[in-house]
Amino acid sequence: MRILLAEDEADLATWLVKALGQNGFQVDWVDDGRMVRRSLKATRYDALILDLGLPGLDGHDVLSDLREADQRLPVLVLTARDSLNERVSCLHGGADDFLAKPFDVSELEARLTALIRRARGQEHPRFSCGPLSYDSSAKQFRLQHEPLSLTPREHAVLRALIQHPGEPLSKRELLDRVFSDEQDVSPEAIEVLIHRIRKRLENAAVRVTTLRGLGYMLEAGE
Ligand code: CA
Repeated sequence: MRILLAEDEADLATWLVKALGQNGFQVDWVDDGRMVRRSLKATRYDALILDLGLPGLDGHDVLSDLREADQRLPVLVLTARDSLNERVSCLHGGADDFLAKPFDVSELEARLTALIRRARGQEHPRFSCGPLSYDSSAKQFRLQHEPLSLTPREHAVLRALIQHPGEPLSKRELLDRVFSDEQDVSPEAIEVLIHRIRKRLENAAVRVTTLRGLGYMLEAGE
C-alpha cells in the first residue's frame, strides 16, 4: 500500500516513514502543502496522511483543493490537538478520518487500513464468475441470482477463489485463508471443503477445477 505523507515536522515524518515501512506501507513524504497535488498527479496512492499545519498551503486548503478536483483518495488528517471544532471543519472539508497528535503508530495503521479497505470496497463491491457472484459488502454469494447458502468455511474458500478467478490457489494458500488462526490442519480439510462446494455448484455453469500440482481454480463453464 502506497501512502503520501504531508508533514512538515521532520522528526515525526522520518519516524512515520520508517514505522509504517516496517509494516508493509510504502510512504512518500512531502513537507509543503503545495507538493501534495503534484505528487498525486505523478503517483497513484492508496491514501494521504495530511498534517493541518503545513507551510506553502495549509492542510485545510489542501483538502478543499483535492475535493474540488474530485480527488477520491482517502484522507486521514493529523491535528495538533483534539479539538471538536477542528474535527467538524475537516469533516465538512472532506476528510475521512482524524488522529490527534501525539498518537500511537499502531492506531494510525489500523485507521489507514480501514480507510483503504473501505475505499476499495466501494470501487469493487462485487466479484463474479459465470452465474456466481459475490457482494463483498453484504458478504453474500448468489448463484443465478439466488442467495447461495454456505457454511463459514465453505464461504471462506469460495471467497478466496472468486477473488482470483481464473487463477489457481494452492491448498496451502487456501489453508492459510480459511484456518489462519488454527494449527495443524491437514490439507485434506481443504479437499473436503472443495468437494462440498462442488456439490453446491452442481448443474451451474461455474466450477472448481483441480490443476495438478498448482491447486484449485474457479472458472465459468460446464
Ligand atoms: Ca505541522
